[in-house]
Amino acid sequence: MQVQTFTGPIALDQLGRTLMHEHLFIAFPGAEFDPTATFDRAEFITEAVRRLRQLRTEHGVRSFVGPCPIRLGRDAALMREIAEKSEMNVVCTTGFYFEEMGLPIYWRARTVTEIAELYIRELTHGIGTTGVKAGAIKVATGGWLPPYTHLFTNFVPMLKDRGLSDHEVDAIRHDNPRRFFAGEPLPRMNEV
Ligand SMILES: [Zn+2]
Repeated sequence: MQVQTFTGPIALDQLGRTLMHEHLFIAFPGAEFDPTATFDRAEFITEAVRRLRQLRTEHGVRSFVGPCPIRLGRDAALMREIAEKSEMNVVCTTGFYFEEMGLPIYWRARTVTEIAELYIRELTHGIGTTGVKAGAIKVATGGWLPPYTHLFTNFVPMLKDRGLSDHEVDAIRHDNPRRFFAGEPLPRMNEV
């Protein structure tokens, strides 16, 4: 069993001490137009790498899950560069933020199946053309749009159709993937 990270798949025993929900960078769409906000990419990378190295050397953290929603500043190339330079295992996720704040107009007009196809592509093929595969699904739903709340029910048979094992499919049913990464048995959907 392997875990996908920004720098490729790793074995479970390479995970080490793992933080399950940390953000390298997050911003709502539109922030890039704010004239009062400055973002120096090179400077940001340098500082992020410094802090991650510190986290690794002083606190023994080897890995973390970076559950940045798709439209909240998720930048696979940026995160991969930081992961590479800091030698930190960072797990990328797929998934939108909850409906009111993170589901773009375009995707509100798509069907549940089409949203699921996007997630599946990011899990199995990669994010855009970066080659970075998501290693987990960010689940955030407020129940505002009924089709979106049904996504994860419909998702399970779709994943099984594509050959994912029961254990891999179980991982998407949990808001805390720690047990999944640890390879522990997981309760079924109706037990959660
Ligand atoms: Zn978060």
